[in-house]
Amino acid sequence: MNKPKVAITLSVDANPGVLGHTVALLLESGLKYQKHRLVSNADQSENILTLEATGEVSPELQTHLITIPGVHAVVKIESSVVKNPENILQPESPSVDNIVKFWQTPRAIELIQQFESGLKSKEREQKSTQFGEQIGCLLSEEYTDILFTQTSIDDALRQVVVPALGNFVETEIKNNALYLIRSDFVNAPRGKLKLLLGLDQERCYVISGIVQGLLNQSATLPKICVRRSKCVAAGDSMCVLQVDVAK
Ligand SMILES: [Zn+2]
Repeated sequence: MNKPKVAITLSVDANPGVLGHTVALLLESGLKYQKHRLVSNADQSENILTLEATGEVSPELQTHLITIPGVHAVVKIESSVVKNPENILQPESPSVDNIVKFWQTPRAIELIQQFESGLKSKEREQKSTQFGEQIGCLLSEEYTDILFTQTSIDDALRQVVVPALGNFVETEIKNNALYLIRSDFVNAPRGKLKLLLGLDQERCYVISGIVQGLLNQSATLPKICVRRSKCVAAGDSMCVLQVDVAK
């Protein structure tokens, strides 16, 4: 569940110990400290410390804050309930943020499946690929340095894509393609009937979007496009994602 957000504004001494004491007090009172900002006027005679936290504000918080050495005044304590009602009703809705939050746990795959199950089959390829690209974009933030030194697609697959996909896949890389020896992103069809009906929803749209989203954050690689040249869902023995330079 989302906790209320709390903003605490204090007038303080420019003494660095004040922040430590204040954060310790917040933690003791059950609040979860998030960040702070200290703004001073030119001669440092006035210093305003703003702290952001989440949780329930206890009635004693103000009196406790004022006892901290170096705290002159409690200017205000604001508490607000998280505004987005969707987040409250569905703390784990299949959003890009939630999927990245649960990345490398089975929950991320469940959320992806939940997202895809809400799509009509006609829109699935486009929307799932786009969704994957957004996930890839967010994941790429961890690999910014390494992405900006890549000049070969194979190396980028090895050094960025494989680590980012982590335990969701087992892979081999050759000739600008990712061979998925095992992949949590796809289910092998069960029985002939499923094969005949086609399993469009289980094709590797999201994972191919993720690879695209990751690699296209690199300024040193050409713009790329991922082609699903083989897929378990189509009856192939493994999924193969072929990375092509975009035309
Ligand atoms: Zn596949």
